[in-house]
Amino acid sequence: MVSEYTVLCDFDGTITERDVAASIIKEFSTVDWKEIEDRYIAGTITSREELAEQFSHIDASEEMIFDLINKDMKLDPTFTYFRDFCKMNDIPITIVSEGLGFYIDHMFLAKGIDIPTRANEGVFMENNTIQMKFLTDPGNANSGNAGPGDVICGKCGNCKSSYLEEQKGKGKTVIYIGDGRSDFCPAKKADIVFAKKSLAIYLRSENVEHNPFNRFSDIVAMMEELI
Ligand SMILES: [Mg+2]
Ligand SMILES: [Zn+2]
Repeated sequence: MVSEYTVLCDFDGTITERDVAASIIKEFSTVDWKEIEDRYIAGTITSREELAEQFSHIDASEEMIFDLINKDMKLDPTFTYFRDFCKMNDIPITIVSEGLGFYIDHMFLAKGIDIPTRANEGVFMENNTIQMKFLTDPGNANSGNAGPGDVICGKCGNCKSSYLEEQKGKGKTVIYIGDGRSDFCPAKKADIVFAKKSLAIYLRSENVEHNPFNRFSDIVAMMEELI
């Protein structure tokens, strides 16, 4: 029987110990990346604009970026245990990421993990920058990889909330897992939320019910009670 549940899970900082996109920018930025982030946090620019601007100001070859990932970026070692638990219970997992698909694919492949991913993409340019290719385009629901049902807010590169609404429209009970700013909006719309770091702090301040976690093994323990 197909489960009523579906899991939507963030990647950077949630499955990985460190935020991969942010680590690439911090390591290779040629400008004050924090100033760009501050404008995003203040609401002056959107998430799309923040990412496009930050990645247009890096100086790194594809090889340098993969070296950084291979050397310093790690997955939560208990994530595969969670994946197996979901598989056993016929609960599908979809990765929803405002980050870049190339490093998600790379890190998953290295661990033999095969999970459908909805993420933005980055194109390695000749001048050692990355040009963002966003998953969802505002004003055109059928552009890029967006499904026909996607209602796009125009602020995200990959509108996680629109995909979440699509799943709820199909009658699914949505379990959302995340850690950061790109999860604020979808977490408020989900049926069950597992949150860490700034997402947990935010949801607490907004009085939104959520389950704090540190590692994916914590989520398995809580889901065993839940489902
Ligand atoms: Mg994150
Ligand atoms: Zn959005």
